[in-house]
Amino acid sequence: MKCKMMKTEIYSLLDGDSSEAIAKAAEYIRAGELVGIPTETVYGLAGSALYAEAAVKIYTAKGRPSDNPLIVHIAEPADAEQIAYTTPLYYALAEKYMPGPLTIILPKKAVIPDTVSGGLQTVAVRCPSHPAARELIRVSGHPIAAPSANSSGKPSPTTAAHVYEDLQGKIPLILDGGACSIGVESTVIALNAQGDGCIILRPGAITREMLETVCGNVAVAEAVTDPGKAGDKPQSPGMKYKHYSPKCSVILVDAPTDEAFIEYVNRNGQGKFGVLAVEEETDRFSTGTVLSLGKREEEAEHARRLFALLRQADDMELETLYVRLPARNGIALASYNRIIRAAGGEIVKLS
Ligand code: AMP
Ligand code: MG
Repeated sequence: MKCKMMKTEIYSLLDGDSSEAIAKAAEYIRAGELVGIPTETVYGLAGSALYAEAAVKIYTAKGRPSDNPLIVHIAEPADAEQIAYTTPLYYALAEKYMPGPLTIILPKKAVIPDTVSGGLQTVAVRCPSHPAARELIRVSGHPIAAPSANSSGKPSPTTAAHVYEDLQGKIPLILDGGACSIGVESTVIALNAQGDGCIILRPGAITREMLETVCGNVAVAEAVTDPGKAGDKPQSPGMKYKHYSPKCSVILVDAPTDEAFIEYVNRNGQGKFGVLAVEEETDRFSTGTVLSLGKREEEAEHARRLFALLRQADDMELETLYVRLPARNGIALASYNRIIRAAGGEIVKLS
């Protein structure tokens, strides 16, 4: 289906009273239209989760395959009852981590159209902590389906300008809430059949270690660190798709030390190339454009900047971007998962 081009307005939520902007957005949601909205993770492309047609518009605007299901956002953890069959473990996790960047897959109720769930009998449920997102859900009176508001395959948007770049002319309104505080998408988990644990399908700011404080039994899906393991019928359909790719080619380097990484880039970098580096190392590269991830120890900051830096590399028309492979624990696992997909799964391993 083709998208009708329309004028895209941007309403700021940052100066003064935002109730008018939220009311306007709620009107669009109730009318089956789409709105770009801020959340604490990344910007979302929001539509009513009760309307199959809104989901179709979302897939079309993003160019997203329609078997890649949408996350449904609710205003309160208990509102999950309206759309899904909950379990005690859902509430134990919700108690600690909702509202917040955690998405839980649950069996869906009939009010959620199959189009929203990509044909699955489960639905991904999230209660965002961003006040504007929650207010919009409340005022519209609808649960809201909202994938990241980027064109499918591109880095996720962490500012309203990123959303405009990808979706101008395709949606009537973007709410500008400033830069997202977390900057990577929510952690997606499925609960195990025994009811005592879960599996991480997509890592995010609610880390494995944090989940383990609620349920001891936390697994990480193999495809999280190895996209090649997703297979044709992955646990989460999104695992099989290309993701987060800037136009420039990303060279991911698994380096044992900072020295080894710097030396590799200084030896191999040529043409219009850039490098993502921690702030302490930015002056160690002899040529190329150095983009700072933030201070070495601040891994949440690295994750927060990652998508914006990938977009910046394209804005600067870099041809190649060198990135050091992140660690696999804490929030660094989220950066690892995104960057390995941006690099198309290839890693240069230095000994
Ligand atoms: P995004 O909408 O861009 O934040 O991506 C949502 C992610 O959640 C995708 O990777 C989806 O495949 C995944 N997802 C959504 N619904 C389900 C579901 N019912 N079962 C498994 N994974 C899901
Ligand atoms: Mg996405």
